[in-house]
Amino acid sequence: MSTSQELFERARRHIPGGVNSPVRAFKAVGGTPVFIERSEGAYVFDTEGKRYIDYVLSWGPMLMGHNHPRVREAVIKQCEKGLSFGAPTELEIQLADRICDIMPGMDLVRMVSSGTEATMSAIRLARGYTGRDTIVKFEGCYHGHSDSLLVKAGSGALTLGVPSSPGVPAALADHTMTLTYNDIDGLRQAFAEHGDSIACIIVEPVAGNMNCIPPLPGFLEALREVCDNSGAVLILDEVMTGFRFGLQGAQGYYGVEADLTTLGKVIGGGMPVGAFGGKREIMEQIAPLGPVYQAGTLSGNPVAMAAGLATLDIISEDGFYPPVFTRTRALCDGLQAAADKAGVPFTTNSAGTMFGGFFTDADSISNYNQVMACDTERFNRFFHLMLAAGVYLAPASYEAGFTSSAHSDEDIEATVDAATAAFAAL
Ligand code: PMP
Repeated sequence: MSTSQELFERARRHIPGGVNSPVRAFKAVGGTPVFIERSEGAYVFDTEGKRYIDYVLSWGPMLMGHNHPRVREAVIKQCEKGLSFGAPTELEIQLADRICDIMPGMDLVRMVSSGTEATMSAIRLARGYTGRDTIVKFEGCYHGHSDSLLVKAGSGALTLGVPSSPGVPAALADHTMTLTYNDIDGLRQAFAEHGDSIACIIVEPVAGNMNCIPPLPGFLEALREVCDNSGAVLILDEVMTGFRFGLQGAQGYYGVEADLTTLGKVIGGGMPVGAFGGKREIMEQIAPLGPVYQAGTLSGNPVAMAAGLATLDIISEDGFYPPVFTRTRALCDGLQAAADKAGVPFTTNSAGTMFGGFFTDADSISNYNQVMACDTERFNRFFHLMLAAGVYLAPASYEAGFTSSAHSDEDIEATVDAATAAFAAL
């Protein structure tokens, strides 16, 4: 039995930073990442057998809890028939039919293998469809690591973006305009000045990559309106929010419909899956129907499709969502009460099955600059106290938390008890 410390040292010999995705390295919070051996329901277990109540849930997919027996069985059954064929299967039709039946305005859908592929392809399609190059994104929203999307705000409002990573050509960032989330006036001004050249807006309908920031009333509606007026395509990136707010995602929850929607995470039930889809007229531009190219060796992989279908079966059952919503709210209320009792300045956001906590004096948090002004040091100490107490939170203060149907009242109570002790110790 190796400790996480030993494994991390071994991992760093041949894996950059010891991890295959940066946030796993605990760089933000310090210390050694926990190496996980297995998972069940609301829990992950490390290599030394320690159990953690998990609010990361593989960064969102495990809405029905880890290692759900029905998903596992579906995967094993498909594995017995073969892992990948590179040819069409009936499973792909079944999943596409299900998604198009459920999601508002989804006429056609294309499967890919990650959220990054989904958003990258949706952007290309929006550009190909409109014949325009500029895209609009919002500061603090993350849409995967493709070049056009790894762009941060330039200096001053309404400037075009600058690369947020070496290796992203400045010329490409020039085509990405970065605006402030929840700022309707800024949005309208950008479209008044540049609307004719904007191919699309891409946005997280509830931001989950700058902690958890729900849209303020009117923000999503304003996005719809400026797109309708300018001819730009509205891409709602529901890679994280898809199926986390009810079957119709954030679009059903907030009543705003996208032209294109990107999905991932939950539709794969833990297997690598993404998807993009939407209005027929736009989707018909994609190859082989149209000229916009997009492809994938493992796209629509049968094992992943089987996991996705089993997941949709589970979450489509009557009464699936209300208890998860209630427990998410109860968790936030419990955390708030615990912080108040300890006199720690703290506030929470929650929506559907996503939540976030902020170490701040502010009453509410609704954009990136406010998130960045929170007390990161305090979060880091809180994170390690919770980890020691067996609660696994995202290892960075700018990530949303997730709940699942496997989290019980007892798990929520145990989490709040751990938080009460942690706040008191801060
Ligand atoms: N869009 C959103 C909203 C996401 O949260 C993420 C990943 N966290 C992505 C896209 C990229 O997905 P992936 O990591 O599967 O490439």
